[in-house]
Amino acid sequence: MPVILGSGSAWDTACVQLGNAARHLGLDDGLHELLRTPRRAITVSVPLLRDDGSLMVLTGYRVQHNLARGPGKGGIRFHPSCDLDEVKALAMWMTWKCALMGIPYGGAKGGIAVEPALLSRQERERMTRRYAAELVPLIGPEKDIPAPDVGTDEQTMAWIMDTYSAHTGYTATGVVTGKPLSIGGSAGRAGATSRGVQLALFAALRQTGRDPYDTTVAIQGFGKVGALAAQYLHDAGCKVVAVSDVKGGVYNPQGLNPAALIRHLAEGAETVVGFPGTDTLTNDDLLELDVDVLVPAALEGVITIENADRIKAKIIVEGANGPVTADADRILEDRGVMVVPDILANGGGVAVSYFEWVQDMQAYFWSEDEVNDRLRTLMERAYGEVAMLATTQGVTMRAAAHIIGVSRVAEAHQTRGLYP
Ligand code: GLU
Repeated sequence: MPVILGSGSAWDTACVQLGNAARHLGLDDGLHELLRTPRRAITVSVPLLRDDGSLMVLTGYRVQHNLARGPGKGGIRFHPSCDLDEVKALAMWMTWKCALMGIPYGGAKGGIAVEPALLSRQERERMTRRYAAELVPLIGPEKDIPAPDVGTDEQTMAWIMDTYSAHTGYTATGVVTGKPLSIGGSAGRAGATSRGVQLALFAALRQTGRDPYDTTVAIQGFGKVGALAAQYLHDAGCKVVAVSDVKGGVYNPQGLNPAALIRHLAEGAETVVGFPGTDTLTNDDLLELDVDVLVPAALEGVITIENADRIKAKIIVEGANGPVTADADRILEDRGVMVVPDILANGGGVAVSYFEWVQDMQAYFWSEDEVNDRLRTLMERAYGEVAMLATTQGVTMRAAAHIIGVSRVAEAHQTRGLYP
């Protein structure tokens, strides 16, 4: 049969992954279509008064992909390439991720097409508050709970929480997760995605009989996920030989010191590039380095049919959402590269978001050790379920993760029935 190549877009990749799971599960066409179609998708205009007095009109989105298992859950990203199709794909991935992690949420995502680094802090606050005000009818602790994603942080969440609370007339801490600790954030949330990446990576090393002390790692992205993943992996004995940010990457075959790189950025450096004792490399070079494990932890669609043949890592752990396109996935599978998929590998973030929301709802807070213990339990359970299904059914970890996520959501629909 001729191979039909996809567009490589996030939405295309998400639909191919769902299609494969639906076929494996024998879902009928109607249910497959129901699972593909976003439940709600809104586009909002976000007028922003610039500091110089001019008016700029931005476009924002929020997609609630599926609400069968609970309220919508998923991040908000501020990035120039954000569009409705990308947000739809990211929302769909959240649906399967929450189901796979065993947490009682549906999937959602939002964003604004904007380069936040070009705005002042005051402009970012006005933009965030106006966007949040437009979302007030849609979000809420029992309806849809945003969190940070690319280009947003705990301050963004604080502004959204405050704006929402001002509109409802009472403080609603549970409307967002990834908040600062002072307003109902959770211990351990800031490092949760990275900790989850480390747990997934170590589970993959155990499964393939590799020694962490004899493992080299390259990480694309040195932001919220990549930087702390680098540090945790380094602390746990792996040799992190390369990391990168938007401006490029740094390489040292003897191993980098992630804590020193994080300090360097905290002290005002704009990029890791040029850090003393390292060679410079491009983001494309980093992906093709001869390392044991590659952790793409930036944006989607970076491993494509163009470069999949040249990836030398034996294991890819997806810190980012959707870094491998559907066509590239097939090439990696043929080449025997093990991919620990996004909805599993980065599920630690939303898992601790769930813990934050539970703590907010009961107004009773846990210690960081308790959060980390519970995170480990959820990650190891999800990893074990995926690895078991992949082995018994002879499918990839990606296929297994999607089969589990999609089947749980399909079961929720079938159990609830259709209204009217
Ligand atoms: N943006 C993160 C993700 O893609 C976290 C979402 C959340 O905590 O709701 O999983």
